[in-house]
Amino acid sequence: DEEPLFADMAGDINVSLEFFPPKSDAMEVQLWEAIEALAPLDPSFVSVTYGAGGSTRERTHATVARLVRETSLVPAAHLTCVGASRGEIGEIADRYWDAGVRHLVALRGDPPPSAGGRFVPHPDGYANAAELVAGLAARHPFELSVAAYPEVHPEATSAQADLDNLKRKVDAGASRAITQFFFSTDAYFRFLDRALAAGITVPILPGIMPVTNLSGIRRMGGNVQIPDWLERMFAGLDDRPGSRALVAAVVAADMCRRLYNGGVRDFHFYTLNRADQAFAICQLLGVRPKETV
Ligand code: FAD
Repeated sequence: DEEPLFADMAGDINVSLEFFPPKSDAMEVQLWEAIEALAPLDPSFVSVTYGAGGSTRERTHATVARLVRETSLVPAAHLTCVGASRGEIGEIADRYWDAGVRHLVALRGDPPPSAGGRFVPHPDGYANAAELVAGLAARHPFELSVAAYPEVHPEATSAQADLDNLKRKVDAGASRAITQFFFSTDAYFRFLDRALAAGITVPILPGIMPVTNLSGIRRMGGNVQIPDWLERMFAGLDDRPGSRALVAAVVAADMCRRLYNGGVRDFHFYTLNRADQAFAICQLLGVRPKETV
């Protein structure tokens, strides 16, 4: 077989894209360049994260509102219940609804470092993401997405308890889950099987993180296993950012190809507000800008 890798990708893939709200004018320019570059890939939605502890409440809102005003993209606003009362969450939800936003990604959020790593709900707040989903669903008929963890959330008492939690979030009104990033396609497929066996039938989109910085990934990843082959792939590239980016794109695209061969057609990309990686990976996967199809 002389067909090169990726030559069999039919382009029957839907992508969604995740961005974070910019902290400075320069970062804002970078974000919007990335959005403009990636918009022709016709993402099914674009999501905007919410800073730890709700620290980006206004910036997330401003970014999402600009997406509504200036683009035809479908935005999804991340929202966490860390440090917020039910009333405050309700007001944030109303503002999104009034701005024309119909899709939220409902998350519990991480405890602030000052809490010693333990999540303590606001006295009048939601105790977990399932309660948040129920509260948001009761407020407005939002489309709601939630987080899922193929390698188990670090605070969960067991894999089964974590799966039960995902089921509660779906039963409370979530119509889609998006996974934490992972590097083992086996772990993802096993998770899909177990979710289905637990009666979870909503789509569970794989969250694809193009790794360009392994130490950052180690910090962010919680339980996510970093396979030896990935360590070896990036060994010696510390001072070669260009090569690192090329390797990262191929590694992520190959993982997507294996997911595709296992039946996956919807992919969620953590873009880190950069177009190049996601665009190159989509290109390898046969996804083409809409105008040139
Ligand atoms: P939950 O679903 O509430 O679960 C948290 C933990 O509590 C799990 O271990 C769960 O098993 C356990 N649990 C929940 N309910 C119960 C119960 N009744 N009994 C026993 N155990 C229970 N963070 C941000 O701050 N901003 C973002 O924008 C953001 N976006 C994200 C996007 C994705 C796709 C993912 C995967 C994560 C994101 N996060 C974000 C991180 C997320 O906030 C953290 O992982 C957080 O620690 C858990 O949030 P959750 O919504 O999964 O919580």
